[in-house]
Amino acid sequence: MDKATSPFSALGISDAFLSVLTDENYSDPTPIQLAAIPAVLFGKDILGIAKTGSGKTASYVLPVLQRWDEAKWTLKNRHVPVLVLVPTRELAVQVETVFNLLAQGLATRPKVMAVFGGVSINPQMIGMQDVQVLIATPGRLLDLIDSKAVHLAQVQVLVLDEADKMLDLGFKEEMDRVLALLPRKRQNLLFSATLSNAVNEITQLVLHKPEVIQVTDEPQEVQLIEQRAFRVEPERKGPFLRYLIRSMDMHQVLVFTSSSHSADHVADKLSKHGIEAEAVHGKKSNHARLGTLARFKAGKLRVLVATDLLSRGIDIEALPYVINYELPRSPKDYVHRIGRTGRAERSGMAFTLVTPEDQPHFKVIQKKMKQWLTLEGTDDVDLKSV
Ligand code: AMP
Repeated sequence: MDKATSPFSALGISDAFLSVLTDENYSDPTPIQLAAIPAVLFGKDILGIAKTGSGKTASYVLPVLQRWDEAKWTLKNRHVPVLVLVPTRELAVQVETVFNLLAQGLATRPKVMAVFGGVSINPQMIGMQDVQVLIATPGRLLDLIDSKAVHLAQVQVLVLDEADKMLDLGFKEEMDRVLALLPRKRQNLLFSATLSNAVNEITQLVLHKPEVIQVTDEPQEVQLIEQRAFRVEPERKGPFLRYLIRSMDMHQVLVFTSSSHSADHVADKLSKHGIEAEAVHGKKSNHARLGTLARFKAGKLRVLVATDLLSRGIDIEALPYVINYELPRSPKDYVHRIGRTGRAERSGMAFTLVTPEDQPHFKVIQKKMKQWLTLEGTDDVDLKSV
């Protein structure tokens, strides 16, 4: 990218970042980046109301890296200058990847580390030495603090990513404990997909005169996703799923179910019919989940069957297809699910299977979305050979 004309330069992003932005095809900042980058560089607190898919991660990673680089906050003795709190392991790993990716052009790169529960703590304790950017789920962070593997008294920038989800998952107490350990003077960046009362409470507690950036209404984002809904009798759902995957020649598709049990069942059935599928859900070990996700992201696994637990954490460049095999409970989850496709200005398709029994609930979802789909009939589709 021509340095002089890069729209990221216009926001104050230094030349060191421009080649990686070009390599990653970040040609134009997304709306949240346009608003957040200058404010973060300026040292302001931020309340960003934005969903995954809006480019929110880079909206804080870029300016935080630049601030770290300029201020030379290279802290020692297990003090970390940048702390990012996240609700899930998947998001922790994803944010770590973005930090490492975008730091590539810096003359001195920060040591970035993601820590989360469900895996052995020992390697994390050892790895904590000289960490400059720590990305953590709240529970494991507290364990590491209790064992004196890390200190928060010199944190310069705190990021709370997916604060709403953190509260939904019951991390309020842990968050309060972490907040109490931070120095008073620091920069705070809080991101949330929604603005609930609970989120409001946290923002009041944490943020100081924040710049409020709201990009929840991103019509172009949902419009990019072609949505179709099919009316399917319950006993024809399995065959119809195979029919969709085969007839549309889907090579990378994320299928959502409403329970872990059902995810396993759908993945088993698909595999038995020669469509390579694996399930990820809360009952799988962290190791198994990360392995499956990595295979899927690398294009080595055709179908990933997942529950809503993962719908926010999965970030895959241009995932072409999402199928709702079972409806999500809430309209919010529906948006999160279909938001896995058509990301960052690439188009995607989201299909939903609706049984006659599901129809009233699907109406509720559509009403909340203010978007109505024609329910396509499938009784005539020949499913014998799938
Ligand atoms: P996020 O909302 O942070 O989960 O980002 C969603 C996706 O958008 C990620 O795959 C990013 O790599 C991509 N992305 C973020 N910012 C941009 C940009 N300015 N241009 C193109 N893609 C972007």
